[in-house]
Amino acid sequence: MNMIVIRSTGGIDKSKSWEQITSDQSFVLDLNPKQEKLLSIFGYYEIADKKRCGLSTCHAPHIKGYLVTTESGVKTNIGHQCGTNHFNIDFQQLVNDFHKFMEFEVAKETILKTKSEYSETKDKIDKILNGQRGAKWANKKLSQTFDKSKVGESAAKILSDLRRSSSGELYIQGKASEAEVEMQLKNNPKMHRDDAKFIDRSVGIVQYVDVIVERDKLKNLLITDSLEVLNAVFQCDIGNTSTPDLKSLAKKANQIQKNISESETFVLRAKKFLAHENLKPIRLKLEKDKQYSIKDSEHFITFLESIYKD
Ligand SMILES: [Zn+2]
Repeated sequence: MNMIVIRSTGGIDKSKSWEQITSDQSFVLDLNPKQEKLLSIFGYYEIADKKRCGLSTCHAPHIKGYLVTTESGVKTNIGHQCGTNHFNIDFQQLVNDFHKFMEFEVAKETILKTKSEYSETKDKIDKILNGQRGAKWANKKLSQTFDKSKVGESAAKILSDLRRSSSGELYIQGKASEAEVEMQLKNNPKMHRDDAKFIDRSVGIVQYVDVIVERDKLKNLLITDSLEVLNAVFQCDIGNTSTPDLKSLAKKANQIQKNISESETFVLRAKKFLAHENLKPIRLKLEKDKQYSIKDSEHFITFLESIYKD
């Protein structure tokens, strides 16, 4: 990724192109380090299309470098090594100071931008959280699939097995046809003939099971990693925040929009999981598998009916 950061009066300027910088009258492409004294670093760049070092004694092409100014006001670009080797100055100290300044300013910029978008972002989060069939609804309903008192003990057990299943496919045991008995014995020579009289038949596949496996993710994406970060940014007093703290907050703030869109995708997947048609295999298993009672399927149907009620 190409980037050029220039120190400006208000902070940093990232808008300048390489052409704009080098077309400055005081910028030279061939500076003799023996005739000039280095004064300061005014910019840093990373450009994939290598740039030649501006020192007449070097001219080595490099990807990263510093924009420097001399005591006589001449500007050029040099690599890290050249600054140290060709000038009688503690270049490493200048580099450290510039990076520290740059990191603080980049973080500050992120914080200010996030602050300016506060209401807009908060509205977006609120809508996803509290909207009809939103994140709160999805989280509540997904949690209820773990709750025996909501889905019934048998459905809770089936759902718990589903969480560990990779396919989401549900089966019931049925009577095998003669051909199926022979086929099962052929495939499993050690199988007893009495056991081969029964066969597992699929009643369908429950999709999007990952939403119940990862249901806490929704809370993290929207609350911990978006809303709480947004509020921390809102309350952040930049002038009284240390650079490491500001950097850490800016890093989190940069993730907010990504987290929001991930949570939207998650809610959509939760809706697809909670669709009656998707959960039908559970109902069929409860109805058709002899190990379950009518009460089991009735309990689960009550849950199905409750899904879209609140
Ligand atoms: Zn050089």
